[in-house]
Amino acid sequence: MIFHTILSIISIRFPLDDEFGVRLYSCLMEDCIFCKIAHGEIPARNIYEDDEVLAFHDVSPQAPIHFLVIPKRHIRNIMETDDSLLLGKLLYQAQKLAAALGCAENGARFVINCKFDGGQTVDHLHIHVLGGRPLAWPPG
Ligand code: 5GP
Ligand code: ZN
Repeated sequence: MIFHTILSIISIRFPLDDEFGVRLYSCLMEDCIFCKIAHGEIPARNIYEDDEVLAFHDVSPQAPIHFLVIPKRHIRNIMETDDSLLLGKLLYQAQKLAAALGCAENGARFVINCKFDGGQTVDHLHIHVLGGRPLAWPPG
């Protein structure tokens, strides 16, 4: 908890558009796989990137189309941010990319798993976008 409070303070003092802020984050978040992907430290099949948002194909796709949209900044899950602008940008890119990858006509599923009950396995906020086949409901 203290660690993440310190991180929040650092993120205000050193925003991610600042080179030093990016380096500090990569150092502090060295155990987060999605931070490593966001900082280009481990490879991913990227689909889209801007200053704040990254989208890349899931390494273990559960549908013909399965990609993830993440904030570049480390946010553990959807409960742990009040940044409505960033949340809007993530959802907007998820929708745009789903359409660009061919899901406009038949649709897709947009999923955000959160913490233990939500089945979240990577503690860095991400939107799953799944498409290319009909998906069952309800979830398990
Ligand atoms: P969660 O279970 O947290 O909602 O989803 C995590 C997702 O991240 C899973 O679908 C998993 O396949 C994906 N994932 C985990 N590690 C990696 C990785 O190193 N690269 C990519 N591209 N996806 C990953
Ligand atoms: Zn992270």
